[in-house]
Amino acid sequence: MDTVDVVVVGAGPAGCTIAGELARAGRSVVVLEKHDAMSPLSRAFGVHARTLEILDSRGLVDELLATGAVVSGLKLWDDTKLDMSVLPSPYPFLLSTPQTDVDTLLERYARDAGARILRGTTVTAVEQDDDGVRVHAAAPDGTATTWAASYAVGADGVHSVVRDAIGQKFHGRDLLRSIMLADVTLDDPPAGLINVDAGKDCFAFVAPFGDGWYRVVAWDRNDRSVDADPIDVAALRQVVVRAMGTDYGWRDVRWTSRFRCDERQVEKYRTGRVFLVGDAAHVHSPAGGQGMNTGIQDSMNLGWKLAAVLGGADDAVLDTYQAERHPVGKLVLRTSGGTIRMLLVQSWSAKKIRNIVVGAALRIPPVAARIAAMFSGIGIAYGHRRGENSLVGTRAPDLPLTTGRLLEALRDGGFLLVLEKNSPAVEFVGSVSRRVDDGPAMLVRPDGYVAWAGDSAAGEWAAVRTRWLGDPQSFSAMSGASSRVAMPPSLPSSVGPGRPPFGSSASA
Ligand SMILES: Cc1cc2nc3c(=O)[nH]c(=O)nc-3n(C[C@H](O)[C@H](O)[C@H](O)COP(=O)(O)OP(=O)(O)OC[C@H]3O[C@@H](n4cnc5c(N)ncnc54)[C@H](O)[C@@H]3O)c2cc1C
Repeated sequence: MDTVDVVVVGAGPAGCTIAGELARAGRSVVVLEKHDAMSPLSRAFGVHARTLEILDSRGLVDELLATGAVVSGLKLWDDTKLDMSVLPSPYPFLLSTPQTDVDTLLERYARDAGARILRGTTVTAVEQDDDGVRVHAAAPDGTATTWAASYAVGADGVHSVVRDAIGQKFHGRDLLRSIMLADVTLDDPPAGLINVDAGKDCFAFVAPFGDGWYRVVAWDRNDRSVDADPIDVAALRQVVVRAMGTDYGWRDVRWTSRFRCDERQVEKYRTGRVFLVGDAAHVHSPAGGQGMNTGIQDSMNLGWKLAAVLGGADDAVLDTYQAERHPVGKLVLRTSGGTIRMLLVQSWSAKKIRNIVVGAALRIPPVAARIAAMFSGIGIAYGHRRGENSLVGTRAPDLPLTTGRLLEALRDGGFLLVLEKNSPAVEFVGSVSRRVDDGPAMLVRPDGYVAWAGDSAAGEWAAVRTRWLGDPQSFSAMSGASSRVAMPPSLPSSVGPGRPPFGSSASA
């Protein structure tokens, strides 16, 4: 029996992200993946601003940007537009790129950080007790293997074996069957935006990949096909014409597929020592392009917390994964489900009302900005407790610092202390930088959210750091970085235990 700190089941985007995060924090991690090779099928095509920021904070974003098309927003019916260019982000757009590019990048990230990815290895069962977990799998030659670990993460997608093994029900319902996908070339493509429209009994999306190919997604209420049926390309093209009024000069087709879409979420993202991330924890309609993005962000949230607890932090830190990410998953189910239902309204009058109401809302700049922030993930915040600075729980913006940008300063993976422009220096085990603008000091978590904000001279940041990470030694092991600057005379020589961070509720 092999032993590691964490076994991750599934090498999709969520699994590779958490494996990379754990490995870069110095934890031993193995990813067990049933497929021999990476899937060539690209389901997702939209990478949102928050995911691009996260990738930037690991030095990965430029490579991904080079693979896709920058899309400034979504064009809906009647020239209504969801404009992403208003986002307060270095990435005020949606990157349209095949999911295979994201999968390739994240798998390499995990391997480079030191994670072992064992392909052709199918997990069959998971057991746990107070001391650890045992993950049973069939190796490529069919022999049974068992991995022992402190924790296991189920990143094994919608049909998760891990979820079944820990007895979590996937509550929800079927939403749509037989949605058709095709990658096509178009002689007269729509310009710049992702186009979304609906006919009487159908809808379609058209998104550019940036290399001359376009992803078409279409659904026809009268289509009774099952998932295994081949796509009739002529029929698919007609659905696009019915929904959008044009086929945009449809020419070549390189790939087609069908999928179904459910709306489901588990109640508990944590069951003892086993966690669920990504599609294993939540699935929903692809409208809004949030599934993969949400899964990557689940993993960024859980990765550093698992590393911290393995390094000696309080076990209750792990409960904040549920507190912070479950409400986000719930919100995504609601918004993506609402979007698809809105597309599918049938009666003339309901459509008229929809067009007027949504059109009017998206023409009010603050409302439009809020909606864009919600879909892009930029608007996600995890809440703060009474008495805390209102920045706590929000995503740290990409501020200019004396050492570069904030997202660059997060690249070592640990906590980052950002001091005010003119405050005295402090001693901190981890990365320290300084603002060049006027604003409060901030302690930023490895996933880019603010853990503390205020006056650095009061030294409260030290207690907050200890609350999340345990004593500074384990923090040091996690960040791999240590900065030493002169301690100001006002910093207390010892800090109190602080309140536990646990139980903060998430909001988005
Ligand atoms: C048509 C369509 C369009 C979409 N568009 C978007 C979009 O634009 N943006 C977006 O964010 N999301 C989109 N999504 C959703 C996105 O594709 C998924 O949310 C994402 O792939 C989930 O990632 P994951 O890592 O959680 O799971 P997966 O990608 O499903 O990976 C799970 C992995 O676990 C492995 N596995 C399963 N069982 C076992 C086992 N027993 N043992 C070992 N390994 C196992 C699988 O082989 C797989 O590699 C779309 C989905 C569809 C269907």
